[in-house]
Amino acid sequence: MERLLTIRDLKVWFPVRSGFLSGLMGKETKYVRALDGISLAVRRGEVFCLVGESGCGKTTTGKAILRLNEPTDGQILFDVPEHDWKRLEYIHERLRELWPRVRSLSPVDQVEAEARVRELAKLKKKIDALRGGRATLVERRLERATRSIEILEDRMEGLAAGKDATIKRLVSRLRRDIDLLREFGPAFRPRTQKRLHRLEREHKEARYRLHRAEVTGMRTGKWARRARRFEARLEGLRGRMSPNDPEARALLSQLEAELEARRRRFTDLELSHVRGELEGLRATREALEAQRKARVEATQEEFRSLERAIADLRSAGGVGLEALELHGQEKEISGRYDLVAWWHASGGLRGWVKRFRLYRDRMRKLRKKVQIIYQDPYESLNPKMSIFDIVAEPLIANKVVSTMSEAEAVIKRALEDVGLRPAEEYMLRFPHELSGGQRQRVGIATALVVDPDFIVADEPVSMLDASVRTEILALLLDLKKRRNLTYLFITHDLGLAWIIADRIAVMYLGKIVEMGDGPEIIQNPRHPYTKALISVVPSPNTDVQKNKIILRGERPNPVDIPAGCRFHPRCPLAVGVCGWSSDEVRDELTKLFAEDRGSQPMAETMGEITEDGPFALRLSSSDVPGAKAYLRGRIEALASARPALASIRKVRANGGQILLGLHVPAEPALRRIREDVWVACHLVDPELAAVSEAAAEPIVDSAAAAK
Ligand code: SF4
Repeated sequence: MERLLTIRDLKVWFPVRSGFLSGLMGKETKYVRALDGISLAVRRGEVFCLVGESGCGKTTTGKAILRLNEPTDGQILFDVPEHDWKRLEYIHERLRELWPRVRSLSPVDQVEAEARVRELAKLKKKIDALRGGRATLVERRLERATRSIEILEDRMEGLAAGKDATIKRLVSRLRRDIDLLREFGPAFRPRTQKRLHRLEREHKEARYRLHRAEVTGMRTGKWARRARRFEARLEGLRGRMSPNDPEARALLSQLEAELEARRRRFTDLELSHVRGELEGLRATREALEAQRKARVEATQEEFRSLERAIADLRSAGGVGLEALELHGQEKEISGRYDLVAWWHASGGLRGWVKRFRLYRDRMRKLRKKVQIIYQDPYESLNPKMSIFDIVAEPLIANKVVSTMSEAEAVIKRALEDVGLRPAEEYMLRFPHELSGGQRQRVGIATALVVDPDFIVADEPVSMLDASVRTEILALLLDLKKRRNLTYLFITHDLGLAWIIADRIAVMYLGKIVEMGDGPEIIQNPRHPYTKALISVVPSPNTDVQKNKIILRGERPNPVDIPAGCRFHPRCPLAVGVCGWSSDEVRDELTKLFAEDRGSQPMAETMGEITEDGPFALRLSSSDVPGAKAYLRGRIEALASARPALASIRKVRANGGQILLGLHVPAEPALRRIREDVWVACHLVDPELAAVSEAAAEPIVDSAAAAK
């Protein structure tokens, strides 16, 4: 299925406000890492669910797509055409092969390769200029001349046959006077005419008001009286106008004679003018034809020489040239569709102005394609605006309609589509006159009114009663089918995702931990966090209730994200390489020694625990060999129950003390483990052992090194 939205390594960080003094003292700014590098792809026509507890970054993702949150880094590619995707995929594949070879180039070779790429770009620009500019300039002028000649020839025919619009326009005033005289007789004076039109307009308005008052059940007396009054006046005025007046007939024949004379004079003048113009244009066309012939020959020669130069440069380009060139193309293609790149384009004042215009124009186009349904129907509607004005707002802001009657038709259709029927009855109401479900329907209509392709539904049913929830969900699915919509559905309720999602991404603390086919994720979860979420989904099956996984502790502070796997402090299946810090291991050891005192004699001999580098601890003991054996035994026995202890990979005696080496924290990458399932956990890594070995670093004996 075609991809509609692709997110690559998206980050949204919010700076934590520090005091003025701290800023002056140069203290480091801290960030809330709401999104910390997520990648996903939403296919056209699917429901993609983002699931996770509050604060995991679901809503931030939705808002970043709509640019309601400013992305810090990454890419959001929207609606990339298939041929550009194919090119991007080819480029990525080639770059995977070539890029390591570019990295291995010496700095001198790198500089040389980059100079060649610049040279190539210049030559290509010249070719593009030849192709799109100079070569076709003459052709464009030629085309224009030919077209003008055709128009003038048509005009000559029209003039000869008396059908020419210009002549009609030139004599139009006289023509109008004649028409009016024919219709109304001597009373055709412009003032009378104006009065008639004004009366007709006012009568129409009074009829419309009367109709509105009848529909909405308001008082109709005032408008009925006014309509009758206008009708009587109109009748009187029309009665006074009569075309059968002898004075009118004389005036009519005089005007017609004048009209004929004027038409003849104008026609003769125009004909001579058109003939002169035609002659000039025919001469220009001949000159341009000759110019084109000469230019085509010269351009072809220039093309050939440029292409020869490019081929020469490429053949002497060496290993890095293709990679650097492809890299440039990749940036160019993805930049065209990247919502983040639009903002992070070139610098400088002019760059900023240009960037702002680009942003405004593109965002207007994008907002017609991407819309949001908010969570809270009580907060998201302006209580001072009528439903008509609320739904009309995006239409007007995005310049979708040009007249009020057009807007009324579109709004009526949107309200009826979301089940608010008859639409006229709801248009004049205010949000406080509607129930929660009806308000959410208005929210959906506001999103739909601009006819979008992609909708970010931010927990659209979480604030509604259970009975209304089902109705709104059914409505969303029905609209998806009828309007061919794609949803990014944000929810904290895995049970709900289970029902509606085609694909699911589970998020934890700004990262995706598991993603893929909806039924597969629900029925066969691999990540411990997904397992915990699924275990607490209410179920009529009592067995399932018994196996609830209750996560320990609180969600960590997003300003201070744990090293390694960010879920490790709460993970019931954590292992040694999951990211235990030396502080966590020290706390665990202190707890262990306190518990063992009384039952394990060696626990009594254990002294102070101090840090020895980032991933090592140092322990003092009165009996080092005994303490070493005691520690090894306890770690082996308790490693599965206390994973912080499993992160101790080496225990050895050193200078009358015991040195503990810890695993270096390694963050699990989101890896594909099946056709459409990605998981970020060391447990699904077939090379877990290799990872732990690779992550480990030699223990540095700082005391020995100091000597
Ligand atoms: S990597 Fe897997 S096992 Fe380790 S803490 Fe994270 S989720 Fe748990």
